[in-house]
Amino acid sequence: MAPQLRGTTLRWSDTKALAEFVRARGLQQLVQVLTQRGHGDHPLLWGDEVEYMLISFDHTARRARVLFNAEELINDLRAMDEEANPGYPSRWHLEYASYMLEGIPAQPYGSSMAELTNVEQSMRVRRRDILARLRSNETICSLTTFPRLGCPGFSQPECVPKHRDGQSASLFLPDEAISYHPRFSTITRNIRERRGEKVVVNVPIFRDRNTPSPFIDQIPHGDEEAAIAMKADHIYMDATGFGLGNCCLQVTLQARNIEEARHIYDQLAPLCPIMMALSAAAPFYRGLVSDVDCRWSIACAASDDRTRQERGLEPLTTCKWRIPKSRYDSIDSFLSPGGAQFNDLELLKDEDVHLQLLDAGIDPLLAQHFAHLFIRDPLVLFCEKIHADDDENEAYHFECIQSTNWQTLRFKPPPPNTNIGWRIEFRPMDVQLTDFENAAYVVFVVLLTRVILSYDLNFLVPLSKVDQNIRKAQKRNAVLEEMFYFRKDIQAEVDTPPAEEVGILMSIDTIINGKVGVFQGLVPIVNSFLEDMEVDVETRCTISDYMELISKRASGELGTMAQRLRAFVSSHPDYAHDSVISERVNYDLMLRCDALARSRPHRHGVDPLHELSHGAFQTG
Ligand code: ADP
Ligand code: MG
Ligand code: MG
Ligand code: MG
Ligand code: MG
Ligand code: MG
Repeated sequence: MAPQLRGTTLRWSDTKALAEFVRARGLQQLVQVLTQRGHGDHPLLWGDEVEYMLISFDHTARRARVLFNAEELINDLRAMDEEANPGYPSRWHLEYASYMLEGIPAQPYGSSMAELTNVEQSMRVRRRDILARLRSNETICSLTTFPRLGCPGFSQPECVPKHRDGQSASLFLPDEAISYHPRFSTITRNIRERRGEKVVVNVPIFRDRNTPSPFIDQIPHGDEEAAIAMKADHIYMDATGFGLGNCCLQVTLQARNIEEARHIYDQLAPLCPIMMALSAAAPFYRGLVSDVDCRWSIACAASDDRTRQERGLEPLTTCKWRIPKSRYDSIDSFLSPGGAQFNDLELLKDEDVHLQLLDAGIDPLLAQHFAHLFIRDPLVLFCEKIHADDDENEAYHFECIQSTNWQTLRFKPPPPNTNIGWRIEFRPMDVQLTDFENAAYVVFVVLLTRVILSYDLNFLVPLSKVDQNIRKAQKRNAVLEEMFYFRKDIQAEVDTPPAEEVGILMSIDTIINGKVGVFQGLVPIVNSFLEDMEVDVETRCTISDYMELISKRASGELGTMAQRLRAFVSSHPDYAHDSVISERVNYDLMLRCDALARSRPHRHGVDPLHELSHGAFQTG
């Protein structure tokens, strides 16, 4: 997240007028860091980010609603804990929605194996500290999507969408759903104004036995723009909040130096779709059951600020180029020398930026990566910062571009005037319900980077194949039903086969658990790494539990969060098998999720969500 400044933001026309200026200043800041901060020998440091939703229960009416109270809560937490107590272990950030919070550890974790067991405890403390400040009918839930987001009366307090003149101009989401911080309303308005129309999200509906065919979504006010934008058999959404108002789980790792950072970034790219499918936790949108399991494509569409010309819907007259993807989407190029041969996606570049980076002696793979990020306009500019001259202490203009390129991975340069090194942020995962699960996914990603470095593994395949995998990963039940293009021989060798022959289609079970004669499996590789390391028994046991969760989700023995959520709704007596999630179903589901998330740690492969499955359902 870019610095959470207070101040005055610019409207789109003024932002647009300053875009070239911001790019030029951002480029200077980038060149500075690229030429001065490449090397060094930084330790592995890493950390997680967990996003949460605030939920309010009305036990009399049996309703669960999102609570627009994050800012007050965060201010309170900061004043009481972070500022008053220098050793306070967590840090809280505002997020896009006024019902969302983001919690991180106050200090990143270090490189010892024992640190892997600290992350779950840190998450537990975060949850406890928020819960302690809430009323008895309120809770926080690390839930990727709120099932009835945007339905009538979905929020506390109840607010009316301003579909004619609001920041979102949404038929469903009131502006009060957006955090008060000006960054977020400005992102919302400027995406819409740059695009020239409201964002359009059409998510395929899950066709249940009583779902009308064709399914035609209900549009309030007979709105014409919506009537044109919506598609039959899809759930229609019209606001950035439907994407950025969902929660995710992220991991950030510091590399030894820029070379290692480029290497880790590339090696993690083919793992993005695999972890996306394994973490799938987002089947419900706007009170309806969808046919996708992950939030990713919804976020892409909800943040898509491309004009009609840039999207290829109209001939190019005033815009510079067609742009294949939203600014929220998967990465478009590998960065390491070994990755170059697998760069087979169209890569648009801001040519000025590209040439200046090359002129400054920047490596071509890095030059094209950043020149690609610079094709985007800044979305949020704070008046107070535009002409401030503080490059000693921050790279404000660079961050204006970087921080609104929301890709599956982010390559993060060291901030000026710090001893922080090059970092990679891993961003594709949906957030899980329990601290146990979130810790398991985070630890697995961290351990994967350790085995990649220790055993010199190579997961690279053509990037177009990674993109195909990303599309598959989000489909309903992809974890069990889709085949993913994955590298066969992951021992890095000098001569690799031609790019188009490096991989084959594998199931996630094969990729994670291995299959004799086909692939070793990522969990077995991690386990053998752990055997080679000196790890104390307690740490080893904790990590084994995590690996068991990952392994069983990959094999299907345990369901993903998405599968469990679907099963809960499907078996609820109030569900009419018409793809509609009623107030009552939503209430019972939120109650159950809350009870599970608060319960004691689940160990030894016990499915933390077993009570969400068929048969075990009891009404709240
Ligand atoms: P953003 O929102 O930009 O992704 P945050 O500050 O919210 O950034 O989260 C950063 C994450 O990176 C946190 O988990 C934090 O613990 C971790 N972190 C902080 N410093 C470092 C570092 N030097 N190396 C690796 N991770 C770090
Ligand atoms: Mg953050
Ligand atoms: Mg962030
Ligand atoms: Mg966040
Ligand atoms: Mg982040
Ligand atoms: Mg230019």
